[in-house]
Order: sequence, then C-alpha cells, then structure tokens
Amino acid sequence: MSEQEAHEERTEISSLGEFRLIDHLAAAFPPPQEPVHTGIGDDAAVLERNDSHYSLLATDMLLEGVHFDLAYTPLKHLGYKSVVVNLSDIYAMNGTPEAITVSIGMSNRFSLEAVEELYAGIRLACQQYGVQLVGGDTSASRKGLILSISVLGKVAKDALVLRKGAQPGDIVCVSGDLGRAFIGLQLLEREKRVFIEHPNMQPDLSKHSRIIEKQLKPEARVDIIAALHKAGIKPSSMIDVSDGLSSELFHLSKHSGCGFTIMEERLPVDEEVYHQALAFHLDPTLCALQGGEDYELLFTIKQEDHKLIETIEDVSLIGYATESDLGLQLISKSGNRHALKAQGWTAF
Ligand code: ADP
Ligand code: MG
Repeated sequence: MSEQEAHEERTEISSLGEFRLIDHLAAAFPPPQEPVHTGIGDDAAVLERNDSHYSLLATDMLLEGVHFDLAYTPLKHLGYKSVVVNLSDIYAMNGTPEAITVSIGMSNRFSLEAVEELYAGIRLACQQYGVQLVGGDTSASRKGLILSISVLGKVAKDALVLRKGAQPGDIVCVSGDLGRAFIGLQLLEREKRVFIEHPNMQPDLSKHSRIIEKQLKPEARVDIIAALHKAGIKPSSMIDVSDGLSSELFHLSKHSGCGFTIMEERLPVDEEVYHQALAFHLDPTLCALQGGEDYELLFTIKQEDHKLIETIEDVSLIGYATESDLGLQLISKSGNRHALKAQGWTAF
C-alpha cells in the first residue's frame, strides 16, 4: 500500500464517538462464551462464579487534564472519587463490590507525601464501602497523573439487573438530584480563572459546599440498592449516571429495545443548583439532562411496584418506558414534546 493510499484509509476516531468506537472494536471479537454471561456493553461484565452468584468486573480510568484538574482537586478527594466511580458500576448491576486493584502512572513531580494523600482517599473509600485493595500497577508517566481502577464484585443470580430488561409501561426512576456535579465543576472552573487572574484572592467556595462536594467527593448509591432490596423491588433495568441522564437513557433504550418519555417537571434539580445554573446563564434542565458525573442510579420498575417505590426516600419517578418507535422524548413543563439527544462523550 502506498503512503497515499494508507493516508486515505485513515478514519478519525472523532467521527465515531465513544459508544460507536467501543461497539466497533467489540464487534471484531466472538460473542461471550462460558464463563462469561454478559461481556462488553453493560456497567460491568458478568461471569459465572458458583451456583448462586455471578462475579462482576468493571474498570474505569481517570486522566489528569481530561477527568480532573489538580489545580482544584485535592489528592485525597481524587483517590476517594476514583474508587467510588468504579463501585457505582457494580451497584448499577444490583451487586456488591468486594475488591479493587489500583494502577497509577505519575511523574516525579509527585512526592511520597502526595501519593500518600491519594492513597489516604483510596483507603477511606475502601473502608466506607467495605472493599479491599488487592493489587495494581505502578509506572512513571511523562505527562500527567493517570489512575486506573478495576473492581470485582458479586451478585446473587436472581438479583442481577442489566441495562437490558425495561419494557413499555415500566416506570423510570432516578436517585438523588441531577446536574449538581456539573454545576460544581463550573464553580471550580470559575474560581480557578479568578485565581489565575488575581493570585492573591482566596476562593470562597464555602457557601456552595454541597454543590462542590458532589463534584469532588461523590458517593455511590449503595443506600438505594439496599433500600430497593429491603422494599422487595428488583429493577427491570439499571445504569449509573456517569455521562448524563440523556446518554444513560439512550443506553437503556438501546439495550432494552424500548423508548422513554421523561417529564421535565419531574426531573430532580436541587434548588441551589437551579439558581446557580441560572447565574451561569445555563438551562437547569439541560444541566440535569446532560451534566455528567452525578453517579446516581437510573432504573426502571414494573408498574405494580409503584406503591413500594414511594416508600423509598430520595428516588424520583421521572417518566415511563414506551414502545421503541417513540424514541427518547422529553415533555417540557409547558407540555411540548422534544426529542432527547444522547450526548455521550466527545472528548476525542
Ligand atoms: P461506564 O460509563 O458504565 O463505565 P463505559 O461507557 O465506559 O461504561 O463502557 C461501556 C462498556 O464498554 C463497558 O462494558 C466497558 O467495559 C466497555 N468498554 C469500554 N471501553 C472499552 C475498550 N477499550 N475495550 C473493550 N471494552 C470497552
Ligand atoms: Mg456505568
């Protein structure tokens, strides 16, 4: 092949986007076979363990400059968050995390004390969620801090919940509130700009601590998984909200083969987040739909569980599943229907 021809065959990754890139790569591999129950495509892979349980396996990578900015991210928080975002994927399968491995790439600008801070956060998350650190890898990095964490978990076979399983008529639920982590990021970015321009000014973020904490130190919703279990509800499908509600609805829709209709007035947007979004000239609804990193759980339940779900605190009923030809729709506060777009991730 001449250099000219090779050049012509080049396909930009940005023309695919994250989700199509993964689908494209996965398509070249054989379908899952023993002991794999569910391979690429869900929040975690599902493997046979024993008669009663499956093993769950998930991995997530955090890169400096892409996922975090050390200008405003304390290392201890970063360590904590990097574990939590992984555990969230295990909870999204209705499972229990057991063990993690932590791989880091770092430059010599990090001191022992700095790495200890990072690991203090990792240790705190391990204690908080009852998981053990069992291994990892350590390497030098030329540029930027790289953190990659894998988590192993388990789920009783009859409790497993996939992205697949939602059916027309099911109720769509989401835990907590949405858009807070995104507004937290906007606040931190603004303070960084102020600091660069006026280095002597100390940022005062204390009045926004609830919003900023969601960005810097999110929690995984193990409490919701426990409450669902206690109430005797098994969701028909579930995913965690890492990329934004629209994007996660798109995944549930694709895997379950149904549509979703969401009501704007039902979206859980915290009052403080609402006002702060307006102060940034942002639409609070768009922040809830497309702001990522909330790490809440988005799930569907059968209509007969309607009464039961109302006994669980901090869960909002935001819409319902429909036939697939209706696609993803948002009914606005004024009653108009809009097609929802899946944003996904466009970092390339
Ligand atoms: P999540 O946001 O829940 O972490 P992702 O969108 O990162 O999920 O990944 C979706 C699915 O694609 C998961 O099953 C994940 O394991 C898989 N995946 C992501 N990147 C790759 C890759 N480079 N090679 C193979 N599988 C991948
Ligand atoms: Mg996920």
